[in-house]
Amino acid sequence: MTTELWVKNGYVYTEEGFRYTSIRIKDGKIDTLYECEPEPMKENNVNFIDASGCLVVPGFIDAHVHFNDPGRTEWEGIETGSCAAAIGGTTTIFDMPLNCSPSVTTVRNLHNKREYLTSKSYVDYALWGGMTGNSLSQQGELSQMSEGIIAWKAFMSESGIDDFPFVSPGQLKLAMKIAAEQNKILALHAEWEEEINNLTTFYKKQTGINERKAFLASRPISAEEQAVSYALEAAAKYGTSVHFVHISSERVIKLIQQAKKSGINVTVETCPHYLIFDEEDFLKAGAILKCAPPLRSREEVEGLWECISNGWIDTIGSDHSPCLYSMKDTDSIWEAWGGIQGVQFTWLALLDEALKRKIPLKDILPLGTANVADRFGLSGRKGRIQPGLEADLALISLDETTIADQQSIAFRNQYSPYENRIFLLKVKKTILRGKVIYDHQTGVTRDKYGQYIQPRK
Ligand SMILES: [Zn+2]
Repeated sequence: MTTELWVKNGYVYTEEGFRYTSIRIKDGKIDTLYECEPEPMKENNVNFIDASGCLVVPGFIDAHVHFNDPGRTEWEGIETGSCAAAIGGTTTIFDMPLNCSPSVTTVRNLHNKREYLTSKSYVDYALWGGMTGNSLSQQGELSQMSEGIIAWKAFMSESGIDDFPFVSPGQLKLAMKIAAEQNKILALHAEWEEEINNLTTFYKKQTGINERKAFLASRPISAEEQAVSYALEAAAKYGTSVHFVHISSERVIKLIQQAKKSGINVTVETCPHYLIFDEEDFLKAGAILKCAPPLRSREEVEGLWECISNGWIDTIGSDHSPCLYSMKDTDSIWEAWGGIQGVQFTWLALLDEALKRKIPLKDILPLGTANVADRFGLSGRKGRIQPGLEADLALISLDETTIADQQSIAFRNQYSPYENRIFLLKVKKTILRGKVIYDHQTGVTRDKYGQYIQPRK
């Protein structure tokens, strides 16, 4: 039996901008958009959602989360992580290959992770595969893995995870070559290992300097610049599609923009924390805002917003990288786990900030929807409100606020740098393939509808 759902009277975001439209959804897919709504047949199997007063936007695609399942479920886990994502309007996540244990660097680990996650997620999910200093010699494995992963991820500096060693500059070239042959995107954590390693050794020995300042100084923008320049050169040589994750500085974005213009197939992600917080916040708050690359100056934050306005940033991912609170509550900043817990608040925080800055939402929404779908081969399924695509939607009210209080945090360890912030908007409903998975009054559904996304061949 065909099930039909109408999302009526919303202010709907489409390629042409916002317009009052009703959406007819059939069997989980967007069927028709009606500017002038015909009265639908009063059939038993037709349901309605009244979206009056709401923006209706595509469900967000967060291409950068670490949900740590299987193996480190006490840090997060797919159930709590995907629940928090759904509450924040996200309908699809791409889970990173590290911080779960074992890391996804072999066919077997990929297979086991995929099996393990079945029926545990509230939102749809794709899986990243890892290329590491150890796995590059196993080219048969990498070739088989490429069929199940959305893209490759490698680190150019220490990852902090023992079974995910970084690739050396020489190994990076091989990784580029393999990814190009497979026609897969290679995403990079781009900090130049030698530079940050030397600086870290130097600053750890300094006494009489504020430890948090020393940490910031140990990971300068120049380390990002050097890594990105090197990787761009290799990408040009091998014809690889590259994607730089969590770039923190305008200077580096400009470098990438130049490369794009010169014909290199490259995209760039930044994260909400680089757009909201700055190094002063880190100096005050400490480990809860420790991440790598670290937070930058207020000037850099402003520069990144400028880059967004110029259309130079392609995607925004949360880089939700959770851990136990005890791993943040350490004697020394050097020992604390680096990572920001924020998946639930990514789009609340960004849209709130965009509204305050009077940046049109149409300029920022694609960074978490259409751009991500286009880059990672999902544009035939997700990312837009368009007939034929999956009905993944977020209903957002601009007349209500959200308080990020501790009780409302749905990820496993209930702390976050966003805690106690008030966002001038509210996610009212999240819809995944035509099913309401979150409602602000009743919470998340009991059933978990999230499905594994088989990447495009
Ligand atoms: Zn990450």
